[in-house]
Amino acid sequence: MDQIISFKGSSIEPILSFEFFPPKDAVAAEKLMQTVTSLRACSPDFVSITYGAGGSTRALTLEYTEKLGQAFGCATMPHLTCVGHSRDELVEIIQSFRQAGAKQIMALRGDPPRGEKEFKPHPSGLHHASELVTLIRETFPECIIGVAGYPEKHPEATSLEDDLLHLRDKVAAGADFITTQLFFDNKIYFRFVEQCRDLGIKVPILPGLMTILSRPQAERFCALCGTTMPQSLLSALDEAGEDADAVEAVGVDWTAGQVLNLLDGGAPGIHLYLLNRARPTLSLLRRLQAGLKLHRYFPQ
Ligand SMILES: Cc1cc2nc3c(=O)[nH]c(=O)nc-3n(C[C@H](O)[C@H](O)[C@H](O)COP(=O)(O)OP(=O)(O)OC[C@H]3O[C@@H](n4cnc5c(N)ncnc54)[C@H](O)[C@@H]3O)c2cc1C
Repeated sequence: MDQIISFKGSSIEPILSFEFFPPKDAVAAEKLMQTVTSLRACSPDFVSITYGAGGSTRALTLEYTEKLGQAFGCATMPHLTCVGHSRDELVEIIQSFRQAGAKQIMALRGDPPRGEKEFKPHPSGLHHASELVTLIRETFPECIIGVAGYPEKHPEATSLEDDLLHLRDKVAAGADFITTQLFFDNKIYFRFVEQCRDLGIKVPILPGLMTILSRPQAERFCALCGTTMPQSLLSALDEAGEDADAVEAVGVDWTAGQVLNLLDGGAPGIHLYLLNRARPTLSLLRRLQAGLKLHRYFPQ
């Protein structure tokens, strides 16, 4: 893993990656670029850019693949989903990512469009992320491919065991690494890694972490993803109550504790779902710098 996703060629430090979503309007675009300016000195190994439901951000994902790559001076990883696209369209999009300089793609099936319960593939499209991995391998052989893993099971999966077998299919199709869904309980990540290894899944498994900035928002995400919150986290949030700064402090504290324990337990790095926000990310990274004695410099 360290070799595969340490794009800067260093295997000394743990991997640090940031995930952004494309801005919805001009105001959000300006805020995103301010966030990027604040975080540039953190020198992530790569940044990823999500792909909106049903291809709604196709052009923006491409635009920000180029923009964020230039701004950070690092590798960028556009996400791609199968929702609403034919196989031919997917090939076109993969080629456009390649032309934009992306050397890696996060290959996803995607969620059903809003208001629909079940994922329905495009009539000439793909059914599962594993098929997208195969397509990317065929059209862009040298690409580094990431796929999603679900330590607490994908919400649609009939069992964790089934879900893990499907994850194994994605890796067998050619995925180079796995990024996990967000989780707040490290025991669940370590158990997931063990279960993957038992099934012969050998690729790196990068933990995906989100710092809680608002309790209702976090509860909404958890309900959507099937992520659980440990009682001690819920109690700390209870104590913070409606005070937004106190909630953010609990969130940063919790993520910092998770990161230290994850790296101590052998995780290859961290992928931060930073919700396009700089301040909590900087607070977190400064805390970690002290705890990990990283060589990276995080701005004060
Ligand atoms: C790191 C990460 C990044 C994400 N980024 C985005 C993004 O940018 N845009 C976005 O819209 N969504 C994103 N998502 C959400 C993701 O699209 C959803 O979770 C989606 O519902 C599943 O996508 P997948 O790639 O995991 O699908 P798959 O791996 O195809 O799995 C989906 C479901 O189908 C099952 N399955 C897989 N293969 C088979 C098979 N052969 N037969 C039967 N069942 C099967 C799986 O067990 C699972 O329940 C992201 C999720 C993660 C964890």
